[in-house]
Amino acid sequence: MGYNQKMFALGNKRSIIREIFEYSKQRAAEIGADKVFDFSLGNPSVPAPTEVNDAIRHLLDTQNSVLLHGYTSAQGDANVRRAIAERITRDFGVEMSPDLLYMTCGAAASLSISLKAVIEEGQGDECVVFAPFFTEYRVFIENAGGKIVISQPTEKTFQVDIADFESKINEHTKAVIVNSPNNPSGVVYSEETIRALCAVLERKSKEYGKVIYLIADEPYRELVYADVSVPYLMNYYPNTLVCYSYSKSLSLPGERIGYIAVCPQMEDAKSIYLAVCGAGRSLGYVCAPSLFQQVIANCLEAKVNVEAYKKNRDLLYNSLTAYGYECVKPDGAFYLFVRALEKDAYRFYEAAKKHELLVVPCDDFGVSGYVRIAYCTDYARVKNALPAFAALAEEYQQK
Ligand code: PLP
Repeated sequence: MGYNQKMFALGNKRSIIREIFEYSKQRAAEIGADKVFDFSLGNPSVPAPTEVNDAIRHLLDTQNSVLLHGYTSAQGDANVRRAIAERITRDFGVEMSPDLLYMTCGAAASLSISLKAVIEEGQGDECVVFAPFFTEYRVFIENAGGKIVISQPTEKTFQVDIADFESKINEHTKAVIVNSPNNPSGVVYSEETIRALCAVLERKSKEYGKVIYLIADEPYRELVYADVSVPYLMNYYPNTLVCYSYSKSLSLPGERIGYIAVCPQMEDAKSIYLAVCGAGRSLGYVCAPSLFQQVIANCLEAKVNVEAYKKNRDLLYNSLTAYGYECVKPDGAFYLFVRALEKDAYRFYEAAKKHELLVVPCDDFGVSGYVRIAYCTDYARVKNALPAFAALAEEYQQK
């Protein structure tokens, strides 16, 4: 067969989330959308802040159309990068330079580029991820020529198990991906966890005489509910690349806009940045969407209504735990990670489906026996779904 079989396999095997999404549409057509409780997709349910539409209108009305829709520099418009760099410096106390920022089409592109920039194909490079993890990491790591290595979390809290993490690092480890707030657990890694993790990285880098890169995947940074802070990893470990996206923080997932920030204190920061530029070029990810680069620069202070997600989280968490479900209370993102009421999460998903509840079995996220509930939906859907969650729990209690 004259085409790439690996790519065929990827395209041919739909992710479980997409599969559920398709089922949901079909079921909604059969019984009505209000009777299907679809909690499968991580698509933001709160609108983008009004500043975004205002900025779009303003830019369309005032800017030269040819320039506005034209190519920018491959790494992104210099003024946009300057504005973002100033914001990072102000917010996190890192002296960020616009010349270490690369505009991207969202976190997926940020991750693919960063991994491609540091992994050396054919050298046996490994990348450690912490379970539960965003399923696409496997695709991005393998596509960059690396091998995924999974570190299991501590039981119940889903923080990093430092001893397990340490045991997963060896002379082949090239990078580690940290995602906090986490998809799918909603957990925010504590400062204590981050300090311990970075201490391991420092020690192991010395032991093996090589740099191990820390890749911070941060699309959910602003979506936090409790009085918790999300440590900015550059302040804890210099060899850090931050992969940021506005998909969730400004509810703009379809606009494909984000960036990579290379820590100014990184060893050979300028060379790594050039490797990022080269990886962006080789993957065809040059010049992130021009209009949205400008929109972002005009909306750096804008925020989505995080309270709406918190309201959903509170109702869902309080109700489900009262019905007997076991789950870690999420401090961020918009996911609840719930222990399935039987060992096999897929069978539990099938049982939930009979109650029109669509949740995602999490085996592909690296943890078996759990499902993910994406509560980025209307409050009404959460409320209306509660009797079905109660009935499902009761069904298992009677077994
Ligand atoms: N990383 C994580 C943990 C995610 O949950 C997602 C999307 O859901 C992404 C990366 C990709 O984000 P983007 O839409 O900005 O490419």
